[in-house]
Amino acid sequence: MKLRIVGSGGMFQIPNPFCRCPICEEARLKRGRYERLGPSIYIEDIQMLIDTPEDIGVACDRQGVSEIKYLSISHKDPDHTRGMRIVEPLGYDCIANKGTPIQFIALPEVVNDINAWNGDGLYYYQDILHCISINRTDYIKIGNIQIHLVNNKTQRGNMTFYVISDKDKKVIYACCDVKPFVHNKLYFDADILIVGLVSDDGVLKGGNLLIDAPFKDDLFTIDEIMTIKHKYRIKQIIVTHIDEYWGKSYADYQKIEKKFDNISFAYDGMEIIL
Ligand SMILES: [Zn+2]
Ligand SMILES: [Zn+2]
Repeated sequence: MKLRIVGSGGMFQIPNPFCRCPICEEARLKRGRYERLGPSIYIEDIQMLIDTPEDIGVACDRQGVSEIKYLSISHKDPDHTRGMRIVEPLGYDCIANKGTPIQFIALPEVVNDINAWNGDGLYYYQDILHCISINRTDYIKIGNIQIHLVNNKTQRGNMTFYVISDKDKKVIYACCDVKPFVHNKLYFDADILIVGLVSDDGVLKGGNLLIDAPFKDDLFTIDEIMTIKHKYRIKQIIVTHIDEYWGKSYADYQKIEKKFDNISFAYDGMEIIL
């Protein structure tokens, strides 16, 4: 199985165009792994993209993702949906006025959420432009790849965690709204948990402390994520959905990950092969 982190950022991309902090300035200078676009992942084996942040077109172009046969969106939030227009260049020929639908795979409740928040956008693409075909499901098998779509339903609403397996290899992609982490036996013995919203040292941009931030309860600490790792006997953790206001650069995360066993931090273009 081969996965690619297309975007490792969170709500705010790095560099944030309106910010002159050292992290954003360094990203402007060095580019590459110092930049982060919105959160998404690509399953190379089946040419499936998960999530469409507003910069997904640029992210796909940067990372050489030139074909998408299947698309899924994890939940309704803008940082995962507002690039859904990518289905137009993918599946709609403006000159011939003809759609060639790609499969859109999502939990039924997530399809309803996305439509409610985006003016029935998915129905527009399915019924008017004919560039997607909606498959409401919690399980799909494409070739050797099996995907369980698990609803990590919390007070924030519906959120899809993807359990992706290929024979005896298993990866969980849990990119947003991760806390609380609702129990599911499918998570046991995964090779990798790719997980969003994990705080590192508790210090944010500008020296502000996470414990004083309004979103402090949305993030896992490293200790909490290690507890989940041990409980489910997961071999490796990769942190993604890394926001600009966490105030860390690619080089900072390289230092942080040296302190821990089997925890690493994603970057745009990261390849995961297992
Ligand atoms: Zn900044
Ligand atoms: Zn998010």
